[in-house]
Amino acid sequence: MNSQLTIGWLYPQLMSTYGDRGNIQVLQKRCEWRGIKSVIVPIDQSTSTSQLQSIDLLFGGGAQDREQEIVMQDLHKKKKEIMSLIENDVPALFVCGAPQLMGKYYEPAEGKRIEGLGIFDMFTKHLGTDADRLIGNIIVEPVLRSSFSVLHSVVGFENHGGRTYLGDGAAPFAKVIKGFGNNGEDGTEGVVYKNAIGTYLHGPLLPKNPQIADFMIEKALEIKYKKKIILKQLDDSLEQKANDFIVSR
Ligand code: GLN
Repeated sequence: MNSQLTIGWLYPQLMSTYGDRGNIQVLQKRCEWRGIKSVIVPIDQSTSTSQLQSIDLLFGGGAQDREQEIVMQDLHKKKKEIMSLIENDVPALFVCGAPQLMGKYYEPAEGKRIEGLGIFDMFTKHLGTDADRLIGNIIVEPVLRSSFSVLHSVVGFENHGGRTYLGDGAAPFAKVIKGFGNNGEDGTEGVVYKNAIGTYLHGPLLPKNPQIADFMIEKALEIKYKKKIILKQLDDSLEQKANDFIVSR
């Protein structure tokens, strides 16, 4: 089968802190190594509704408050299409600033509250420019192990001023082993809804944790081609060694 995936990348110019674009490269490479064609579609102010409807996998990276505000003005115009992708089980990965915009609202360090898309039942508050940022290496243990069958510890780097609090309708992506996670208080990290993951982990995330990339590729193919997909295994021994090293340190 000649399979092909269309990967939507939310606002690459405005949302790509701490090497988040590396996540896109990993998705592309891991598709290529298996003979799966991938097409990257940047999603921004010029993207049409029909382009959005063709997305098989969605990615959004981090951004600072100023950029988040600009992005959100446009993202509201795309709310219907993005909600429908997520409701139809399209896999999505939102990192740091991106999930903040997919929650109910984000209160930035300065200025007005930014209303989010409400895909995740959660809200985020920045405690102000003088407040401590939550910065450092982070290790988490995914909570929904059944959905991410081979997931072990996930490692990354976090740097956020926002504190995220999950509502009753939201499940955390992981529990914090080391680091701060959503708010530095309740031990939760990130959020999961259907096949969408929100997380504070940069790294970038996917090169350090290729099993998440494979989870997304597999789900995207299953939804698109409406059949069970088992991806060919790749040799990830180097990535695994790096991951083990970070955990042991
Ligand atoms: N502006 C957000 C915060 O500081 C997100 C930062 C980021 O994406 N790295 O909480």
